[in-house]
Amino acid sequence: MDLSFLYRQVIMDHYKNPRNKGLINDANYLSIQMNNPSCGDDIVVQMKVEDGKIIDIKHDGKGCSICCSSASVMSEALIGLNKEKAIIVVNEFYELVKGMPFNEAIIQGDILAYQGVANFPARIKCATLAWKAIEKGIDERMNDGR
Ligand code: ZN
Repeated sequence: MDLSFLYRQVIMDHYKNPRNKGLINDANYLSIQMNNPSCGDDIVVQMKVEDGKIIDIKHDGKGCSICCSSASVMSEALIGLNKEKAIIVVNEFYELVKGMPFNEAIIQGDILAYQGVANFPARIKCATLAWKAIEKGIDERMNDGR
């Protein structure tokens, strides 16, 4: 099967049936808003951390298929990871979308669908927006020691 077709299917699946979508009104969740003016993407990512581990992620907002599907994929990839491991996955994802070598032991499954983004540099910001948001949230949570 044509790999780019398969990747498009994965992206459209997450766009049409986003996982972990919808925000939660709960003070235990840290909310991070991010936007990408070049495309009009505007999203909020929420995360809940307990004992150094990301136990839940939510996301919502509006944006293009690359941005919204990527938020869904990110939530599935990072829920259950400790903060240090999550940062490693985030950084490997950045390598992948830039077309750089990435760690294939870490980047697997639906995340691989974003390899094609490297061919469209203008869309890299769309693909990374939700990941930038969670990275910011993790940084804040690391600094306050929780
Ligand atoms: Zn976009």
